[in-house]
Amino acid sequence: MVIYLDNNATTKVDDKVLEAMLPYLKEEYANPSSMYGFSINSANAITDARVKMKEFLGANSEKEIIFTSCGSESANTAIKGALSYNKGKHIITTKVEHPCVLNTYKSLEKQGYKVDYIGVNANGELDLEELKEKITDDTALVSVMWANNETGVIFPVKKIGEIIKSKNSHTLYFVDAVQAAGKIDMDVKSSNIDMLGVSGHKFHAPKGIGALYVKSSVMLPPLINGGHQERGHRAGTENVPYIVGMGLAAQIAKENLNYELKEVKRLRDKLETGILKNVFNARLNSSISNRVPNTTNIGFEYIEGELILLHLSDLGICASSGSACTSGSLEPSHVLRAMGTPFTSLHGSIRFSLSRFTTDDEIDYVLKHIKNVIEEITAISPYQDELEHLRKSRI
Ligand code: PLP
Repeated sequence: MVIYLDNNATTKVDDKVLEAMLPYLKEEYANPSSMYGFSINSANAITDARVKMKEFLGANSEKEIIFTSCGSESANTAIKGALSYNKGKHIITTKVEHPCVLNTYKSLEKQGYKVDYIGVNANGELDLEELKEKITDDTALVSVMWANNETGVIFPVKKIGEIIKSKNSHTLYFVDAVQAAGKIDMDVKSSNIDMLGVSGHKFHAPKGIGALYVKSSVMLPPLINGGHQERGHRAGTENVPYIVGMGLAAQIAKENLNYELKEVKRLRDKLETGILKNVFNARLNSSISNRVPNTTNIGFEYIEGELILLHLSDLGICASSGSACTSGSLEPSHVLRAMGTPFTSLHGSIRFSLSRFTTDDEIDYVLKHIKNVIEEITAISPYQDELEHLRKSRI
């Protein structure tokens, strides 16, 4: 039995998505760029998926969509392309971005770029005043995530777009929307966004396919040079089955947005309130309200997250500590550290992330077992005096 509550790491492929992909892995295998009639279905399938992605993201035209291999490639294409398009040497980002963005900036710093990392408060919310003050004539790029992968906290991307353009019209604006896609309404055209990246495997398409929105007025050079695919923006023979899969996954996600905002949120809230009510050393990391509907990040004080995950895994429950890309390292999460999360729960924080496939029964099962799991681990913590004090203060 698997209770899968790690949907921010990856999601299961929707059966309808898989079904739509299969013909392009079997009969319709033609290279979409070929000149014969056999390639027409492949080429049309890509056009159809591009239109679906345009509608999903709220772009003006399907020509603004470039297919990539993943969210990391979308971010690298946007960031590196923006810096060769804009000559400034200054970049603004946040302390809580995904490693695919942060590590790109670390390597750019070595090449002489100056990067400012904007902080967040204890709720994970961005300091907009600081961001505004940092924008100068030399700022080539501002890059923020739409929703945080560890806490689900949503950044006000529309407001940030207004701030950037009011200070500096030539500064480009990149949004990493990998964790927002399918969870909240996205409308790039009304948000002053120049570039925006998403990844199919976070909204029930397979791993290995992503997309980058590039506003038509921005002439972004390609990251991958070669043939003329994607109108010269990204070389490499198109991954037709995966493009078809992501297009349909985007359409289904759009159709299910209300379900996500109501039902998935209800289940997330049920899980969260149940844990916070029944486990005395549990505390919520992040604000209650300003989050995507599927994510909760809970700190269990004075115990180790890895141990919690192992116990949960024995019960068939999949959750995570930190992001999929940072788990395996013993460093506490850079996101929780930026939020000033107390050291007492920094090492014992667990992210539960749901999807539209999560059921009430699954949440009931987790709630039935989690109290015992945490009590067992708490009993062997070396911090018994502190725990006793905490227990008394919370009763
Ligand atoms: N950005 C965010 C916020 C993410 O959560 C992830 C993946 O977890 C990525 C980017 C990278 O996406 P991909 O795994 O498709 O490269």
